[in-house]
Amino acid sequence: MDSVLNQPLRKLARKIRHNARWVLRISWETCPGLISGLTVGKILNSALPAALAWITRGLINAIVDTSQQGLRDLTPIIPWLLYGLALVLANAVLDFITENLNRRLADRMQVHMDMQTLEHATRLDLSWLEDPEFQDIAQRARQNTSGQIISFLTEFFNLFSNSLKIIGIIIVLFAIDPLIVLITLPTVMPYLWFKWRQSRARFTKEFRRATQRRWANYYSSLVSNRRFIPEIKLFRLADLFLDRYRTLISRFIDEDRQLHTLNLLGNFVFALVFSVFFYLLFARVAWLVLEGSLTVGDVAIFAGATKTLRDMLVSLAGHVSRMMESTLFIENLIILLGIQPRITTGAGKIPDPLRGRIEFRNVSFAYPGSRRTVLKNVTFTIEPGEIAALVGKNGAGKSTIVKLLCRLYDPVEGAILLDGVDLREIPLDYLQQQIAVVFQQAAHYEASAADNIALGNWHGLSDRRQVEEIGRLAKVDEMIREMPEGYDTMLGRNFGEYDLSGGQWQRLVLARGLAKQDAALLILDEPTRTLDAEAEFQLFSGFDTIAAGRTTLLISHRFTTINLARQIIVMDRGRVIETGSHQELLDKGGYYASYYELKERHRQLRGRMRQ
Ligand code: ATP
Repeated sequence: MDSVLNQPLRKLARKIRHNARWVLRISWETCPGLISGLTVGKILNSALPAALAWITRGLINAIVDTSQQGLRDLTPIIPWLLYGLALVLANAVLDFITENLNRRLADRMQVHMDMQTLEHATRLDLSWLEDPEFQDIAQRARQNTSGQIISFLTEFFNLFSNSLKIIGIIIVLFAIDPLIVLITLPTVMPYLWFKWRQSRARFTKEFRRATQRRWANYYSSLVSNRRFIPEIKLFRLADLFLDRYRTLISRFIDEDRQLHTLNLLGNFVFALVFSVFFYLLFARVAWLVLEGSLTVGDVAIFAGATKTLRDMLVSLAGHVSRMMESTLFIENLIILLGIQPRITTGAGKIPDPLRGRIEFRNVSFAYPGSRRTVLKNVTFTIEPGEIAALVGKNGAGKSTIVKLLCRLYDPVEGAILLDGVDLREIPLDYLQQQIAVVFQQAAHYEASAADNIALGNWHGLSDRRQVEEIGRLAKVDEMIREMPEGYDTMLGRNFGEYDLSGGQWQRLVLARGLAKQDAALLILDEPTRTLDAEAEFQLFSGFDTIAAGRTTLLISHRFTTINLARQIIVMDRGRVIETGSHQELLDKGGYYASYYELKERHRQLRGRMRQ
């Protein structure tokens, strides 16, 4: 999106109209009753100032007439007093009602827009979330956009009501002396223009700040995130990060201060100019009264109504500029909601019967937004029910294969087939339901131990018995029962008081991966990385049951794990360089054999060091 300040005014005005219509349409669809109520309330409310001015005029004229006749009688005055009282009461009741409706509208819209944004974010795929440009868009949209929508609606209704009030007052003033209106209105135009420039400048500043704001958020989260705290303390990094945070925030504050000062200056100049005109006009009205063409009541109206008009024009300028500013900010939300997922659900082809044959056919891949090809012409097949292992150095591309298989990304070239059907043609929900997976960087949920397992198949598990069964299958049942409240123990230190070690978490994450017992594919990315020897042994002793009837893909650097596989796929720098069984690959004497030999030498070296 090009900078707002560089856009021609016509284009910008079109954008503002478009965004305003967008907000009004969404608000109308979400709360038609509240919008109708507010409209009626504001229309009624807007007739009040003109009516009050007219009543004041009547009241003063009645007093002057009565006193000029030398009467001491309140009768001609009382009706005006009653009208005034009724009007003031009506004003209070209407204010109460519209304020209430406004509050309810704000609450409803807040929930609606927050939910829309969150739901949309969950539909977007990983590649968007890793894209720095998208992060900037999301950062801008996060910048209190639902607040901006509410502010737009509030300003819109205030503007609506203010405009009607101004029309009423103008009619009243016009009736006294058209010159008052003809002089007052043009003095406001430069002020409106000034306010609009200010809004545009504020928006552009905020727009350009998105990346810096993300840096600021990043630094502030570093010093308050539990995962980083040990390093930050030990490496004494707190001052460094706080300093960077302070530098960014101070720059924002300095820039804002300049704008703020300019704003105050503009308001001051406008008040000054308006006051000069006001007193010049006052002299004219006084002259007209002395001439006998206006009454004393007209003077009172002039004084009251001109001041009200001035206040209303000032607040109108405020409403217009804030409304326009809000529509510019809302643009960020419209952009965010307009972003579509790159991974779309398949046309509806389902392998029948589902056997679980995986085939990578000439798959090449680069992460979105990156020019580096991380997989090159990868081709391999895993037969139904087979256990296969992916082996290779760090960065060879093993986890990328897993992400492609789960359709977190799609290949740039080639195809991945499940039982001969391209993954892109299979309905996404169905495909993901068929995959039981443990990712290398798995989530640790702030939830009970039972829920940490059940979240792996939240819709498929109906009771605690099934969760415990999975716990036994994954060999974590005993570990969980030793926790203070067994399966009900709350894990994580954000809400509870109990946490797990790295290895314990990994065992639990593994159990979660096994929660989809009917899944045709089982994928475990480094499942034993942090397990102790006993936990690893326990897991493998029951691995036949875990893998029974499904195709399994293991990723590991440990030969204890690799040994479970019938087929080993060796990768190097994004390519498959060897495939075969353990023995076949050793006999071949290639990369795998030297990798194995290296591990053996390590083992022997460790043995010698211990002696
Ligand atoms: P390891 O054994 O260390 O887990 P791996 O074989 O699983 O390594 P991958 O995680 O698949 O390796 O990474 C393959 C390459 O892709 C690496 O060079 C890495 O820099 C790059 N890469 C991984 N994730 C991303 C990402 N989200 N965006 C851009 N590049 C990435």
